[in-house]
Amino acid sequence: MERMDGSEGLESEEIRILVVEDEKPIADILEYDLSREGFAIKCAYTGSEGLLAAEEFAPHLVLLDWMLPDLSGVDLLKLLTDRFDIPVIMLTARGGIEDKVYGMSCGADDYITKPFDLREVNIRIRTVLRRFQKAAGKAGKDQIKIHDAVIYEKERTVVQLGQPVDLTPKEYDLLLWLARPPRQGFTRARLLDAIWGYDFVGDTRTVDIHIQRLRKKLHAGEFIITVFGVGYKYVPEET
Ligand code: CA
Repeated sequence: MERMDGSEGLESEEIRILVVEDEKPIADILEYDLSREGFAIKCAYTGSEGLLAAEEFAPHLVLLDWMLPDLSGVDLLKLLTDRFDIPVIMLTARGGIEDKVYGMSCGADDYITKPFDLREVNIRIRTVLRRFQKAAGKAGKDQIKIHDAVIYEKERTVVQLGQPVDLTPKEYDLLLWLARPPRQGFTRARLLDAIWGYDFVGDTRTVDIHIQRLRKKLHAGEFIITVFGVGYKYVPEET
């Protein structure tokens, strides 16, 4: 579906945005406005809260204030880009070109200067997400490239080196959840909730068993890794 803002392919219902901003009135206005746009929003008011929320909330994008009370926004930016594969837009009152260049060189995907126009924020979010989705290995529409395999979302199939891989629906869902942006570590509990549902009467060992089978079927020991104390993570191929 082609929309006026060119956001085709992005279903806002599913998109989680983390706002890290210590000025509550600004955080509130972003939360209010972006929720109305259909995004799921979580606000964090310090850098350490932001880091925790990045793990727990699994955002698709982070709006990050430059000046925070504990960590600086740029320090948090470095931590985020080290640990996760999530696009970050810096928010700042500073308008200096040096800051912009510095922020971008530290891994920010875009930069918005306060005071901002909320329509601009909305458009920049969608643009960054779209660019990020493409860069994240979308081989085409409804396809996700993962190492030597391709996930075909429409058909719910996986083809590896030209051969279809025989996955159960749960194995497929697990792979998709890990391989689709945001590509980050997920806890077993989170994967269990997401794939088996909150009312599933089983334990997190179910996830371990499925991961083992998935690794075996896809020879994916290297790209589905166990993150100690966290759970599992898909590691994209170095490009
Ligand atoms: Ca601030």
